[in-house]
Formats: sequence, C-alpha cells, structure tokens
Amino acid sequence: MKKLFIKDLSNKFPSKDITEEDIIFKIKKVCSRKNRRIKIKDNIIFDKKNIPIIAGPNGVDSDSLFQDVVNFLTKLNVKLIRGHVFKPLTFPYRSKMYDDSGIQGLKWIDQVKKQNKQIAIVSEITEIQYIERLAQTADILQIGSRNMQNLELLREVAKTGKPIILKRHFGASLRDWFGAAEHILVEGNENLILCERGVSAPHTHRVTSRFMLDIQAIVAANELTTFPIISDPSHASFWAPWVEKLALASVAGGCDGLIIEVHPNPSKSKVDPLQPLNFKQFKSLILKLKKISKPLSRKII
Ligand code: PEP
Ligand code: MN
Repeated sequence: MKKLFIKDLSNKFPSKDITEEDIIFKIKKVCSRKNRRIKIKDNIIFDKKNIPIIAGPNGVDSDSLFQDVVNFLTKLNVKLIRGHVFKPLTFPYRSKMYDDSGIQGLKWIDQVKKQNKQIAIVSEITEIQYIERLAQTADILQIGSRNMQNLELLREVAKTGKPIILKRHFGASLRDWFGAAEHILVEGNENLILCERGVSAPHTHRVTSRFMLDIQAIVAANELTTFPIISDPSHASFWAPWVEKLALASVAGGCDGLIIEVHPNPSKSKVDPLQPLNFKQFKSLILKLKKISKPLSRKII
C-alpha cells in the first residue's frame, strides 16, 4: 500500500509556520537579533523610537495633485511621501484614466523634490527595466504584495543598496514573506522594511473591503525579527472610514511605521477612490497617532 504519512516528522513537516530549524538555517538573516536603524535621511529613521508616516496619493496622477499633497504633508511635518508612478493593477485593462504616469511622473516628482529638500520618496518598482531610473528619484523602493515572491526582481532591487519596503502578499505566511526577505538580505542589503497590508479572508465585514488587516502578523513578525514592521491600513481595508482606527490599532500592536493614502478629493483618485483620507481626516489622524504613541514611548515623525 502506498505510504500516506511521512514517518519522521522532525524536520520534514512542511509547515506554513516558522520552525526553529527555519530560524537557524533558512531565514537566519531575517531573524538575526540586531538593533536596527534604517536611516532614510538625517531626520527620517526607522527604529524602535520613531514611527515614520509614509503618506500620499495612490498614484502620482498629475503634477498638480502631487504638488498639492506634498504642500499639505510638509506643513504637517510628514516627510516620507508616496510617489507611485508604476502601478500593478489587478485587471489588465488600462485606459487614459487608469494608466501609469511612469517616467513623466518621475519628472514631476524630481521638480517637487528640488523645492522640498527635506522630503523623501517611496515608489513602487514593478519591473527590472525601471530599477535604474526609479532609484534616481526614489529614496525607498517598494516591492508590492503582488511581486513579493518575484525573486529575480527582489534580488536586482536589493543590489541598488537602497532601502526597500517588502509588502507581504495577501495570501503569504510569515514563512514565505521572510523567505522572500532573505533573498534581499543575501545580496548584502540590510535596509529592509517589512509591510503588512492585509490578507484575503472569507469575511472582511464589508462588501467594499477586499482584504483584512492582520494585526496579529505585526505582533508575530516582531517576535521573530528586528527589521521594522510597518502597516498599511489603507490597502488592507480599502475603506477610508476604517483607516483611522486600524492605524491606531497598528501602533498599539507595535508597528514601526504606517502607510496612509491621502488625497485632496478622494473621489477623484484614479485608482481605489474609496480608500484615501481627505486632508481633514488625515490631520485628525496624525493628532490621534501622536496621542497614542506618547505613552508607548514612541514618536510619530
Ligand atoms: C500600493 O501600495 O499602491 C500597492 C499596490 O499596494 P499592495 O501591493 O499592498 O496592493
Ligand atoms: Mn494601491
């Protein structure tokens, strides 16, 4: 009869969760216990004291949108700006309405950067061919959830030496996420920031919410790694009215940074118009984040 069970389970059990053996051999760099300080600029540092806020529109749809948002954010002292010009979309149908601003978008960002020396840009990289050009403009390269295990892309991005945000795929275990991160670290790039952005779940408690923020992943990941774990409640919930509470819950859960979508007129956002906060909502969120962070000995920057 065909054997149905593996006899020796000690180190062959194909667990989706992290084992002691994984920590020692497979994800040893991700799990090495070092104090981490990921410096983006003199005044922008990911560590256990600061909680940097990354904010901005879903995409750099136009020059004026980007300028508006940067003017607003710099007044609030938010320095890390979302400047996405390459967008992986779930469906292939692009139109004028949904197309990326691409290289043109990077030129708009370059102009805004010239006038605002204190800001730093987070931008998503989707293809190896754009790495060199994107790295000239962006201070942090984001690898989105859909590319989490695009290992060739990961390794090429790592070679730039630039800080990287690696988002967790919405169906990935911590083991798969950390395994992908290990591919970055073996290239010698330790400027790694991990981002929880929600998981697929049978119930998300609202028809418009495609994903569910996995606060438990933030807690669990922090137990295993000293790399910063940030949270993106905007992409998790898809629903602006929930973003404030999920952001506060992320801080309470020990996140080391946040990605928050903000738009002067959310309904005009070309992609995902239900998720950005408007300026008033964003300002109120920052005040609340500051209040909740103080007793936790952390500083919103
Ligand atoms: C994004 O940040 O714009 C994005 C596409 O995120 P995710 O990969 O989490 O969907
Ligand atoms: Mn998006």
